Amino acid sequence: MQEKFTPYLEKQFANRAIAEQYLVPKDNILYKFKNLDPLSEDSHQPVKGLIHKYDNRALIKVSYRCASHCQFCTRIRQIGTNEGDLKFDEIQNIITYIKQHIEITDVILSGGDPFFSPKQTLAILEELETIENVKVIRIGTRLPVHNPKSFESAVIKKVLNKVAEIQQKKPLFILINFEHPDELTPETIQVIKQLKQTGATLFSQTVFLKGINNNSNTLKRLFENLFWNGVLPYYIYRCDSVKGLEHFVCDMNEEIEIMTELRKRLSGLAYPTYIVDVEGTGKIPIPLSFWSDTDISQCKDFTDKQIRL
Ligand SMILES: *Cc1c(COP(=O)(O)O)cnc(C)c1O
Ligand code: SF4
Repeated sequence: MQEKFTPYLEKQFANRAIAEQYLVPKDNILYKFKNLDPLSEDSHQPVKGLIHKYDNRALIKVSYRCASHCQFCTRIRQIGTNEGDLKFDEIQNIITYIKQHIEITDVILSGGDPFFSPKQTLAILEELETIENVKVIRIGTRLPVHNPKSFESAVIKKVLNKVAEIQQKKPLFILINFEHPDELTPETIQVIKQLKQTGATLFSQTVFLKGINNNSNTLKRLFENLFWNGVLPYYIYRCDSVKGLEHFVCDMNEEIEIMTELRKRLSGLAYPTYIVDVEGTGKIPIPLSFWSDTDISQCKDFTDKQIRL
């Protein structure tokens, strides 16, 4: 079923590169991938809503809700249902776990979109603020891209006030998901400024999407414009092998050529790390074509396990 979109987003659907990210494709998807959870998130969940896959880092799925409905969403299996909304006792279980695991120093609020469940986000931030072992907090969001107007709401402003308060004590990073340079509209740039005022450091994350951003001019324009607006490109991911995302996955050799080309054309600060989140454990950097004869059909994951790509 096709979801409803904000008037802001619908206005942009005249732009094919934007529309295709959100609209259900007309052609039938050839389901080549079998797995809805290739990153085995569901098996790294010690308590509901918390993924603890890397020793020092933990990711909280604040809710499964997100108003964006990107067709390339890695968590397409969950997004849009109410069952992922964390209840306040579930938040307490997560907090207890983080306190008991003092190796966790870096906590990521994800989802869904943490800004789409601002009450839960606020409650979690208030707890994380005081936990000794939590040194760094990150919030991942795409709301500034598909619904910048929502940042006028009182409850989101309350979250931003909390962000401003926390980041006096510990670094807080906001990671915004951008796929195309045309997403940097005046409205979205205004939200970037608003987020910057909190004192948080802003990064971007991008997914390679076939037919949407898989060319070097588009990505150059995206990364450069992010950089010029004070947002540093952090990662560009290879699209995950999630069932239903097949039509977005680009050819890996083409991606390597694009990233090699961009390395020559962009400032280092405007250049993200190109990675694949493998079906083992780890976000693995993909080698560029400055080196010859690299076998890209397989790699070793963080646990030294051989992974076929
Ligand atoms: C991506 C991710 C992280 C953070 O990884 P970094 O490489 O440090 O950005 C942490 N936990 C999970 C489950 C993730 O998917
Ligand atoms: S904004 Fe993120 S969580 Fe929401 S649908 Fe898009 S990719 Fe998924």
